Amino acid sequence: MIRRLIRKILGRGASTTPRIIPVSQHGIRREQIHPCALKVTRTLRAEGFAAFIVGGAVRDLLLKKTPKDFDVATNATPDQIRALFRRARAIGRRFQIVHVYCGADTIEVTTFRASQDSNSEASEDEGLRQTAADGRILRDNVFGSQSEDAARRDFTVNALYYDPHDESVWDYHNGVADAQKRVLRMIGDPKTRFREDPVRMLRATRFSAKLDFHIDTATRAPIAELAPMLEHIPSARLYDEMMKLLLSGHAERGVHQLRAEGLHHGILPILDTVLDAPAHKPFIHAVLHDTDLRIREGRSASPAFMLAGLLWFVFQKTWEDLKDEGLPDSTAMYEAMDETLERQRKQLAFPRRLDGTIKEIWALQPRFEQRSGARPFRLLDHPRWRAGYDFLLLRGHGADGAAAEIADWWTRFEAADDATRNDLLLPTSGERRPRRRRKRSPARATDGEDAGRE
Ligand code: ATP
Ligand code: MG
Repeated sequence: MIRRLIRKILGRGASTTPRIIPVSQHGIRREQIHPCALKVTRTLRAEGFAAFIVGGAVRDLLLKKTPKDFDVATNATPDQIRALFRRARAIGRRFQIVHVYCGADTIEVTTFRASQDSNSEASEDEGLRQTAADGRILRDNVFGSQSEDAARRDFTVNALYYDPHDESVWDYHNGVADAQKRVLRMIGDPKTRFREDPVRMLRATRFSAKLDFHIDTATRAPIAELAPMLEHIPSARLYDEMMKLLLSGHAERGVHQLRAEGLHHGILPILDTVLDAPAHKPFIHAVLHDTDLRIREGRSASPAFMLAGLLWFVFQKTWEDLKDEGLPDSTAMYEAMDETLERQRKQLAFPRRLDGTIKEIWALQPRFEQRSGARPFRLLDHPRWRAGYDFLLLRGHGADGAAAEIADWWTRFEAADDATRNDLLLPTSGERRPRRRRKRSPARATDGEDAGRE
């Protein structure tokens, strides 16, 4: 009873009745909702169930942004949902979600859930255990009312429900007002909610970067103290969350915010080095900035490329160290790749399938320096030429003058016809090594300064 009272005072579950906001006040029109999501809510409603668009889509539409995807929340159970759609599949063990397919599109449909980890003092530890055992705790699959569903969501702007039938927004936690004020505010007691799921700290960073929101002071306050809790999160989940941040189109701001909050220690401690060292900073910024641009322009950006960039200096340092230990150049290079990736993977479990691409991007860098004979022609046909070249360009945009010169050469070489390409070739490389110190031609004047080369 007393706990219940405390919970109410803390604000958790306090709002059992929502403000129902008409379209004239929020402006979200039915036409802005994905047709497949509309079909899902209409079908559920026709069967007498409640069905709303929820989460990021409502938030983004309210902020006049284009939603990434449309999720639906309903009081129908997963079995009831599946029975209504010909192409539907239940997924997930921790909590069952139903995927409904229309053509190539998928709508995620979830049943309203209650949070059962917040109504006792012992709950905080239970919450931790749940996170630690990530993925297998069926107790999490407790269905609840819509107001309970709203209370277990993280931020007020993420707990808005849009009813396509009458175009109203159901707001349990003043999310619309917070969206207007551009404030990211935790629902309930921030410290308790971060302890339940420390990944919410990363989500706070990601949303504030992506939405350009200010993190409410009370929400932000416990982060510094709780940041070390991220160390207990399975590294695969950290990877997923980090990639969402890095590929959100707002990586530059996100990474800075992450570091400002001290959240990078358990995930990307290398940020300390790369963002402080004057020699490294411009390149890392170029990588983050370029990725943001690509995503905002609707072009692809790969996690492998991003990781190759973030780890580039670590890899080079390791390579140098191994050479100093006496390993031959190329043996040192491949060993440095493995060492760098394995060391980093302990913190951020990026999938092994990315390793091949990361290594190829790195291994291409010294090969770009070979600009005589038949090699440049062969290199153009390399399946990763484009990624490697983009990487080289970024090195040039960083403070690497030698890389800029080589990148410029490759830009011209790629654009040229065969005859011009032949003219662009540097003198054959027989005496390449002895020439290095003599700075024979302006085109090669910077040889040897480029850290990526042998
Ligand atoms: P995005 O546009 O990045 O997908 P989103 O808000 O849709 O943002 P999702 O991760 O897709 O984020 O989650 C959907 C919704 O589920 C969120 O809006 C939030 O209401 C809820 N949610 C997701 N993760 C958590 C969490 N760790 N704790 C509490 N609620 C969460
Ligand atoms: Mg989403």
